[in-house]
Amino acid sequence: MASGTSEDVPVLIVGGSLVGLSAALFLRLHGIDVLAVERHTGTAIHPRAGHFHLRTVEILRSVGLEEAVRRKGEEQYHPDGGINNVESLAGKEIANYFPNLNAGVDEFSPTVRLFINQDALEPILRARAEELGARLLYGTECVSVEQDSDGVTAVIRDLATGAESSVRAQYVIAADGNRSPTRERLGIGMHGHGLLSNSITIYFRAEADLGPLLQDRNQGVHYVTNPLMRGFFRLDRSGNAGFLVVNLVGDTTRPEIIAAYPSAPWARVADGITEQRALELLRAAIGVPGIPVIIENIATWQAVADAAERFQDGRVFLAGDAAHVVPPNGGYGGNTGVQDAHNLAWKLALVLTGVAGPDLLNTYDAERRPVGELTVEQAFTRYVTRVAPYLGTENAQPIVDDFSMEIGYRYNSPAVVLEPGSQPLHEHPRESKGRPGSRAPHVFLARNGARVSALDLFGRNFVLLAGPEGGAWHAAAPAAAQKLGVGLDAYLVGGADLTDNGSSFTEAYGISPSGAVVVRPDGFVGWRAVASAGEPGEVIRQALHSLLCREDGRQSSP
Ligand SMILES: Cc1cc2nc3c(=O)[nH]c(=O)nc-3n(C[C@H](O)[C@H](O)[C@H](O)COP(=O)(O)OP(=O)(O)OC[C@H]3O[C@@H](n4cnc5c(N)ncnc54)[C@H](O)[C@@H]3O)c2cc1C
Repeated sequence: MASGTSEDVPVLIVGGSLVGLSAALFLRLHGIDVLAVERHTGTAIHPRAGHFHLRTVEILRSVGLEEAVRRKGEEQYHPDGGINNVESLAGKEIANYFPNLNAGVDEFSPTVRLFINQDALEPILRARAEELGARLLYGTECVSVEQDSDGVTAVIRDLATGAESSVRAQYVIAADGNRSPTRERLGIGMHGHGLLSNSITIYFRAEADLGPLLQDRNQGVHYVTNPLMRGFFRLDRSGNAGFLVVNLVGDTTRPEIIAAYPSAPWARVADGITEQRALELLRAAIGVPGIPVIIENIATWQAVADAAERFQDGRVFLAGDAAHVVPPNGGYGGNTGVQDAHNLAWKLALVLTGVAGPDLLNTYDAERRPVGELTVEQAFTRYVTRVAPYLGTENAQPIVDDFSMEIGYRYNSPAVVLEPGSQPLHEHPRESKGRPGSRAPHVFLARNGARVSALDLFGRNFVLLAGPEGGAWHAAAPAAAQKLGVGLDAYLVGGADLTDNGSSFTEAYGISPSGAVVVRPDGFVGWRAVASAGEPGEVIRQALHSLLCREDGRQSSP
């Protein structure tokens, strides 16, 4: 039982690492008070996540952090680093997955993918969340979570003093990692491919610059495949620091060995690992015998590919590794978690302020679980093809291209006014063209003479974008939104303050000049009218009513 004080907060976040910090920041941007508790005394101490996808950087841009994160990342990594597969750093190249991380991205996004270590990113997120008023309690553990029909009561413990207190919250976000104690308490199981390897990460310094070993290959992520081991390097731009992940040891290419050892001893790298053994593996991966290297740390961890059976239990939502755990191949874990938090924050905000119906919260599981499951499968496919071909591809999905994975996943839930036809879970961004359920496309526009991306208009409110002949939609929007008490920013693209050179906006969004779209606060298209319609105000009101999952008469205009 809690012996100390009690406090009320709308949202309690359990876990203050990458996803908990992101959730705190996003909720504060929507004006929601939030308390996050984290067991550790500060932000991450290991680099872990390093490869950040387009959608995550777009989200960071929308919260004003793109430049700060990019600058920090460029101190650590070359901005156009690549991802390849080598026998060793000094050895032959076997495959090249991304010769340049950002080849072709400018067709789809105003931003770029980047490398930044998680231990450098988290302090930036923390500072912004605190600047916006989030309360983050480090060295504090959540020891229990009990929910009833009106809220959730959690007991938190100050780990320095042992003092316990209780927190009464309307909602809880469990961003408490892959072993999520909250998920365990709720009895939510995991399903997928299970444990793939007891892996290690060797953090090291080299006395020589390893960069020249790569010759003209871009420095970034280097998978290593040789008869001693399989894993990957992330080498920072100094060339003499980084880490080596080892997922498998020994030669896993011989079918007779694989068949003889069903317990897969080659995947138990972490068991009994010593510094001497780590040094042997590191030298073999560098490919220069006797090269002077210093091991700074060896972290052991499990490569797992699993998703939670549900992402919601009443008032408690799972986000990040608590909801899905993936091997790091493809860099999906942290990215998917940040995007979970982004999907959930605006929904919690609108339900807490009475603007949306409570059913909007059920769309978190409906939207994010299929994406989480897809991500688990695609990370597994990349693990099998890049690291563990011995597992065979029979249980692996065919690969989905990176643009479709990063900015082409689609939502199919009551928080989208779907159009007739099939609703694929993912679509290449060149194909989706503003279809409801897809991420709103990027096009450059001019606002008061300055170049902006359409994406720069999204983030806080719903946004109506009408084509150049869609004046009726534009004129009707404010009154329609007012009837529901919801924030809606309306723009006539081609009007006084937002211009388009040519017809790139209408083409990108798949509408005629008299059409319009409504984009949700998370930057996904919620509704679209391809052309003009009678009673535009009523059509917009109905679309918003549906997107907000409102039931007639339950909410009133503030
Ligand atoms: C080697 C490696 C490389 C990776 N590379 C990438 C990459 O390139 N890109 C990418 O996107 N991802 C990558 N990842 C994955 C990424 O690190 C994780 O997906 C990410 O850390 C998940 O964040 P999270 O906040 O959900 O969970 P975590 O980072 O696990 O944080 C959970 C937090 O909850 C806290 N906590 C747990 N229980 C409690 C409690 N009861 N009370 C209070 N606090 C609690 C924990 O202390 C912890 O700090 C990589 C991972 C590894 C191991």
